Amino acid sequence: AESGRRGLVIGNWKMNGSRVANLDLLTALKERGPWVAEVAVCVPTPYLADVALSLQGSGIAWGAQDCSRHESGAFTGEVSAPMLAEFGCRYVLVGHSERRQYHRESDNDVADKAKIALAHRLTPVVCVGETLAEREAGATEAVVKRQLSAVIHGVGHCIAQIVVAYEPVWAIGTGRTASPEEAQAVHALLRGQLAAATVHARDMRILYGGSVKADNAAALFAQPDIDGGLVGGAALDAQGFSAICRAA
Ligand code: PGA
Repeated sequence: AESGRRGLVIGNWKMNGSRVANLDLLTALKERGPWVAEVAVCVPTPYLADVALSLQGSGIAWGAQDCSRHESGAFTGEVSAPMLAEFGCRYVLVGHSERRQYHRESDNDVADKAKIALAHRLTPVVCVGETLAEREAGATEAVVKRQLSAVIHGVGHCIAQIVVAYEPVWAIGTGRTASPEEAQAVHALLRGQLAAATVHARDMRILYGGSVKADNAAALFAQPDIDGGLVGGAALDAQGFSAICRAA
């Protein structure tokens, strides 16, 4: 990343872990910190109380992987932003591609989630990214612009408070990363789009996600508009995740 922005690495545990395994992972992680970059883990919601207890005062932040677009009420199975805030979450992922794909979240749903997160002083990590078919059709720019545009219009002047994560869907969990240059091109485009909406675009963090590992992180994070990573599989191993944090 360009100097002036603090690096940020967020582990996305997805639907993995157990109370015992989480404690082991966080204990090992705390022993390896602190890092120059800011570090956070987004965990399954049932573990938030355990994780908050373990990470309190550690310098590692925590968050959730999704929130409801509603404040409260008859929405069986959903978890609200104020509930996440009660458990000390700093971040919440919104619009992860697995939510868009398997739960049919629309650009508007994602914008609503970002908005309600901000209203409860959570930092939404807005995930955008094209599928392989979209990339092959030359639609990458149009897709990520459309996804980010919905959030820009939804949250108004609060846009400066979000974190953006560019995650090409074809790179998630596949072992195939975007090259640093391919990723940088999209990050630059996204920062340009943010700059048209806020004077603070240069201070905003744009993370790359999709098969980030200890051995490719440094090259990705060296790009001027890549400010850190959103890390899935590699976030489940303390040594590997710590090495990624060190690279940011
Ligand atoms: P991955 O997942 O690092 O396992 O590719 C990234 C993500 O889905 O956030």
